[in-house]
Parts: sequence; C-alpha cells; structure tokens
Amino acid sequence: MQYINIAKAMEEIAITDMGAILADHIASSLSKKNRSQVEAINQALNFSFPLFRTRPINGNRILELRRAAMLISKTFETPSAPLPRGGRAPHESWDEQDLEVYIGQQKQAAERKPKPAGAPGPYLGASFWAYATEDERSTAITGYRESLELCTFGLLAATHATRAAVTGPSQMGIDIYADLVRIWFGSAPGTAEKVRDALHKTLSGLKTRYIRLGYGGKNVRAVGANTFKEAGFGDGGAKVGNISAIGNGIFAYAPSKSSGVTDQFVLGKLFFDSQHTTIGLTNQIVAIDDEEKMDVTRSGAVVHEATHMYAGTIDVPLSDAVYDSCGWEHPGVKDKRKLAYGAQRCLSLAKSTPTNAAQSALDNADTYRIFCELAKYHRQHAGAPVVIR
Ligand SMILES: [Zn+2]
Repeated sequence: MQYINIAKAMEEIAITDMGAILADHIASSLSKKNRSQVEAINQALNFSFPLFRTRPINGNRILELRRAAMLISKTFETPSAPLPRGGRAPHESWDEQDLEVYIGQQKQAAERKPKPAGAPGPYLGASFWAYATEDERSTAITGYRESLELCTFGLLAATHATRAAVTGPSQMGIDIYADLVRIWFGSAPGTAEKVRDALHKTLSGLKTRYIRLGYGGKNVRAVGANTFKEAGFGDGGAKVGNISAIGNGIFAYAPSKSSGVTDQFVLGKLFFDSQHTTIGLTNQIVAIDDEEKMDVTRSGAVVHEATHMYAGTIDVPLSDAVYDSCGWEHPGVKDKRKLAYGAQRCLSLAKSTPTNAAQSALDNADTYRIFCELAKYHRQHAGAPVVIR
C-alpha cells in the first residue's frame, strides 16, 4: 500500500453505508491529483498525538477519526462546513465527538451532491484507494486504456464484415472478418451491422463517460463485521469484499442493468492475476475444447463490462438446445442455467437458433469480448486463417 494513511482514512469513511457516497467523492478528487499532490496529502495524514496533550484512553480512535476528517477537508468541497470553533477548524479537533459530528455532516453533504463528474475516462474508486497496491492501480488504468484499442479492433472488424455482407465475398473468396461474425454471432441477415452498432456504443461509452473502477482484488479485507462498500450498487452499495470472496473466478463485475446504475464496475481477482494483454488464436482454440478454460485479457474483461453498460448486453443463460449440443444434461427446475462465458459456450450459443429473440449471441457480453480479442489477433497477424469447426 503506497498511501497508507489515505488508505486507512478511506476505510474509516467507507465502511458504513452512509459513508460510501462521501468516499466516492474523495476518490474522484484524489484521482484527479498528480502523484506528488497525493503524496502530500498522505503525509499530512501522518500525525500522532501532540506531546503537550495527555493521551486519552480513546486515543487511537481519535487518531483514526482525525485522519478521516483531515482527508475529507483536503479533498471534498465543504461550503456548508461549520465555522471553526476557537480558531481551530473542526477537522483539526482532538475531541472524538467533534470529529464524529464533522464527519457525519460531511457524509450528509456528500449525499446532497450530484455524483462525481470529470473528464471522460476512468477514475479509481474508494476501494482502490483503500486496498490496491500501486501495481494494481496501474494495471487497472492500463487495462482500461487497452480496452479502447481492443474495442476499436472489434469495431473495425465488424465494420469490415458489414461491408462484406453488402458486396459479397471478396476476391479471395474468404473474408476473415465476415467469418468471425458468422462463427461467433451466427449468420442471420443484418448480424454484422448489429455487432458493429453494439461495439460502436460500447466504444463511445468507454471514450466519453466518467467511469469508476472498483477494486475487488486480493487485498480487500473485512473490518470486523463490516465490509467495505462502494457507492451506487443497490441500497447499501457494492460489498466489494463479498465480490472478491465469492469470486475467485471473477474478472470483473458490473451492476445489473435493472439497477439503473451505470458508469462503474469492479475489477476482480482474476483481472489482476491475468498476465494477458493479448490472447492468441491458439489459446482460444484450446478454450473451445475445454469448457472450464477461461482465457481472458484484461482489456477484454473491460470490454465485456462496457457492453453491459453501453450496449445493453447480458450474460445469456444457455438454452436446452445449447445444453444438447454440448452434451450436457438439462438443468433441473431449481438449478441455475449456465451462462454464456468462455469460448466453448459462446460458440455453441452462436450455433443455436435462439428460441427467444432477446437471448442470442448478439445479446451476450462475453461473445463481444472474444470477438474483439480475435479481431485484434487477426489484424496483427494478417492472413491467419479463421478456424471453422
Ligand atoms: Zn457479464
């Protein structure tokens, strides 16, 4: 943890439901500062009891509250803050109750404010400032930047395939991008156009929105019975700790469409474990033969979540037809259906005729992720044949 004092203060503020929104504002503000400004704030939060004071029994608690109060005062606009008493700003008090009152007022002030705004692109959520290492912070930002490139490769491929659908097969008799669309999304008329439109929306979302990245990596910890909460997911906020706890197998997580929450997603343990920025064709072919194999690039994980947010995709539950084609027993009435994650399931989904128009490969987030990864691969290895199975 590079900014240890900021991390402690952030945890103190965000651990309660009421603090998640204030923590979000602070996180947005920190994300706009440069490294030396953040370091200066971290230094300012590094203090101990003044020598001229007798250290009270609740001394540790006072230090925690004061650190949180100082962080608030340095990052969050407080026009309605109470005037200093006795010449001392409220966040500089050494009184437990005064500090609690101040922090409580700031939490309320944050709830009255519109949600944080900023220049298009990602900002690091409170959970990042509380738990992530410096490496993880830069991995997240890099993954996001790479996702713009990855999505552009996918969009180019889909645009090319759209054109091919109009003009017919190219001279070579083979058009790898039209093939890619057909393999992963099926061959219904107008498919390439729909893929292109979805990726266009996804790319503009990534390029034009102010998007919060949450941290669900391995360093999230529970504090007593409480779990760190990220503002905006449902009533109590996202329980970031829970996401990482249930999800050793989670790359990233975005709130469901029905929640109405957008412009934010949490990066999970696998995102930070992943060594990949690029996936080769071989990996995807191996993955087609192995249901359990999930090879995902970091940028691909971002594209997957972004299609949820900006192109209205879901994780499509597989139909009986897909179960049949994979040789699986049908799920029981109470069983959850498998969702279309990974190459094997996505490929089977594309081959099946959707019984419900709302749940085809065109609606499936991971299909777009794989399509973009392969589009990038083909663009960089021009001439590599598409494997048709
Ligand atoms: Zn998903």
